[in-house]
Amino acid sequence: MEIPSALVDKLRSAQRVVVLTGAGVSAESGVPTFRQAQTGLWARYDPQSLATAAAFTANPRLVWEWYAWRRSLVAQAAPNPGHYALAKLEQRIPEFSLITQNVDGLHQRAGSHKIIELHGNIQRTKCFDEHTVIETWQEHTDVPPRCPHCGGMLRPDVVWFGESLPPEALEAAWEAVEHCELFFTIGTSGVVEPAASLPNLALQAGAVVVEINPQPTPQTRLASYIIRGPSGVLLPELIARTWPNFP
Ligand code: NAD
Repeated sequence: MEIPSALVDKLRSAQRVVVLTGAGVSAESGVPTFRQAQTGLWARYDPQSLATAAAFTANPRLVWEWYAWRRSLVAQAAPNPGHYALAKLEQRIPEFSLITQNVDGLHQRAGSHKIIELHGNIQRTKCFDEHTVIETWQEHTDVPPRCPHCGGMLRPDVVWFGESLPPEALEAAWEAVEHCELFFTIGTSGVVEPAASLPNLALQAGAVVVEINPQPTPQTRLASYIIRGPSGVLLPELIARTWPNFP
């Protein structure tokens, strides 16, 4: 897929850029998106029905083990060229924010720093009762493990369906989008709110919206540039075209 020259010119001169990423950015790292078929043991479970507080209350062991499986996938995965390209982009743009719905930490591992995590991070846990964040825990004693402070059950520190997003992250995301001139939505199906509203907010703020995704999404109609294909190929190409001498 050809990258439009007008987009390259726009990016080269841009001062304020926001990128929104979703699970598709990590697909080429081997981390399945929610909409890809689950494998093996988990094939018969609907991820959306496991990623809820009600599911955890009903069957804490099942939900803990599903997240332990996902955590092991992430631990075995490495950032792909798309993650690295976004880390490079951050170095070229004066005001840059990377808003991610991903919980896998692969953007950090690729060297991105200006990250707003909307949905938490699978590598952390928190107490189900008191919400205290717990960074280290024993995996093999109780399942789920217990909070060292109050004895409550530990759960992953991610935002489940039906839960509110961390207010500071949401505020930072809104603020960045309202002031950007160029907004990329990459590898997200655009159906999970409130992230799904960000492209429209960007458009209303006067930004040019770009979609990078192999498939159309509900936000495609908002985009001035639509680039169909995998982000692990297209993002390095975009950076190379925009700054040919950037290592
Ligand atoms: P999604 O699964 O709903 O959609 C993935 C999108 O990525 C689709 O539009 C698909 O066409 C696109 N895609 C697939 N392969 C791609 C590629 N190689 N390059 C670019 N795009 C590609 O994901 P979502 O929109 O992020 O929403 C799902 C929710 O699930 C989020 O809340 C997220 O927190 C969570 N989730 C996170 C991870 C992760 O952290 N890696 C993985 C699965 C789900």
